[in-house]
Amino acid sequence: MKITNVNAIVLRLPEISTAADGTQDDLIIEVETDEGITGYGEVDTAPGVGKAVVDAYMSHGTCYGLKEVVVGMDPFDYEQIWNDMWAKTYYYGRTGPVMHVMSGIDMAIWDIMGKFSGKPVHKLLGGSYKNKIRPYASALMPDDIDGVKELVSDCVEKQYTAIKLGWGPLGFDVKKDIELIRTARQTAGDHVEIMIDIGKRYRFKEALYVARALEQLNIFWLEEPLPAEDLTGYKRLADSTTMRIATGEEESGRLAFSRLIRETHVDVIQPDISRCGGLTEAKKIASLCSDENLLCVPHAFKTGILVAASIQLIAAIPNAPFLEFSITQSPIRKGLLAEPFVQKNGWVEVPQKPGLGIELNWDTIKKYGTVLKK
Ligand SMILES: [Mg+2]
Repeated sequence: MKITNVNAIVLRLPEISTAADGTQDDLIIEVETDEGITGYGEVDTAPGVGKAVVDAYMSHGTCYGLKEVVVGMDPFDYEQIWNDMWAKTYYYGRTGPVMHVMSGIDMAIWDIMGKFSGKPVHKLLGGSYKNKIRPYASALMPDDIDGVKELVSDCVEKQYTAIKLGWGPLGFDVKKDIELIRTARQTAGDHVEIMIDIGKRYRFKEALYVARALEQLNIFWLEEPLPAEDLTGYKRLADSTTMRIATGEEESGRLAFSRLIRETHVDVIQPDISRCGGLTEAKKIASLCSDENLLCVPHAFKTGILVAASIQLIAAIPNAPFLEFSITQSPIRKGLLAEPFVQKNGWVEVPQKPGLGIELNWDTIKKYGTVLKK
């Protein structure tokens, strides 16, 4: 089997806000083969930049566009393809948009391998630890107490057993932050796990103050309290609180995750499969976490394609107790799959169909697509 083409499809809602909501647009990667099997991946990056990374012509030996690298290769040589993509973009890659797009291509290649083999991707990744996964409802933190009560009540009513609230008003006033978080805890009751995502807005002392307050509120983890680069801050923080500290969504490549694990003592590592280097790299990152007895809970705030890839990884590794499950109302997020994943009785089922186990809804792609092949 050989890869014959790679298409980068950009979707975009008619109006885009500045909210930290990656479901307002999308970059879908479509990889075609001479066997008639097509695989799909998704990239969480600036979509226009990502498309250029796919389509760019070779400039010289370490500045290729990624389509030129992978066309002609056998998808089952996925490690070699990954290393070729890395090596042939070395001058302008190794992180950022190139690694993001490598992630989407790699995701599509795993979809192809699964479809060709007639097996779900988690079987090829080496595990079936779970046939259903506990999702946490993931939403932006509302601006006020009433908004928090309404959102959390709605999630509990829908039978979510874990809820993450992040960004929005958080990170500017620690007293207000704690008040909003306390409201979430009181509204949810003690049986629902609450995670909090500060979106990198604290400095060390603010982070420590809030972490210690959240210990008393039985919060499951405190996510990205500090900028991703502040490894010293993360180490000091993790060493000073019993609150689990989570981070990693900004990083690409196992080397960055290795450094993060080695140089901090954070508790939950969050590779985003649409940015970190795809399933090939995420599996290695999950192993690094497992070696250090850490949780590895993929970041996934995009559409059902990334959710599918995340489910397949989580099913195949022993150290991921949750699935991030965005509840934003974006029609791209909600409409991209022919059969969207659903949370039922607090669980999401692991698809057993070949590949990622999804079909795309081309009506949604046609409606919001800015560059279309079909
Ligand atoms: Mg986050």
